[in-house]
Amino acid sequence: MKLDQLSPKIKALILDMDGVLWRADEAIGDLVRNFEAITARGLKVSLATNNSTRNSADYVQKLASFGVNLDESQVFNCSEVAALILKEKFPKGGDVYVVGGSGLAEVLSRHGFTPYTAEENDLPPALEKNSPVAVVSGLDIGINYKKLVEATLLIRAGVPYYATNPDNTYPSTFGQLPGAGSIIAALTAATGVDPIVAGKPEPYLFNLAMQQMGVSPEETLVVGDRLETDILGGRNAGCKTALVLTGVATREEGQAWIPKVDMIVENLSNIVF
Ligand SMILES: [Mg+2]
Repeated sequence: MKLDQLSPKIKALILDMDGVLWRADEAIGDLVRNFEAITARGLKVSLATNNSTRNSADYVQKLASFGVNLDESQVFNCSEVAALILKEKFPKGGDVYVVGGSGLAEVLSRHGFTPYTAEENDLPPALEKNSPVAVVSGLDIGINYKKLVEATLLIRAGVPYYATNPDNTYPSTFGQLPGAGSIIAALTAATGVDPIVAGKPEPYLFNLAMQQMGVSPEETLVVGDRLETDILGGRNAGCKTALVLTGVATREEGQAWIPKVDMIVENLSNIVF
């Protein structure tokens, strides 16, 4: 299947980054040429990532280092989307109990919330100090038992639970490390509550990108290297999907995936050229 064969005509691309545009700090293919081809086709483009540890400015800077200039408004990450979902639910803001990194806290503050977390010496828990509107978890490299205690008691008391992304692991030079999904697993085990998840495969990231680009799901192609996040998420949002083989998934896994992936290609340039 070629891009031009998809019907209705594709007007926008939503690209995953890691495994599609680069692996760690190494660009995949000729990014400058690929983005020129996207522009030449008149396609709108957004980038969507489940990585909550970097913000949009970091990605714009990383792209610029590869010679590609995009605007921050074209980059969507799951912390940002979690904050937007919360803002819609709690327009007046409020305290939010965070199990996550400083990036997540920064995004929540920017959207009018007051993030806080358990202090080192907060056992027994300091529940009476705050009355948060929500608990939010993300990847937290400073995770400890006290943080989990407070989150557990709040969630068990009925405070709504949100999470940035469900990825159980993330790749590092040492191998797969515990991801945000591992922290969800701990809190869900302790509370019996599944969070509302902002990142892929939930559709929010894609919905927001499409809203900003002014396109409908049928005319949007989601491009990614992971079936259970990018491809499932794209499908959940009603978009067309393309799997590239430059990251996690293999051609065999892509071909076996149900529902069918619209395009399976070696790399991004096979889509845009
Ligand atoms: Mg990826």
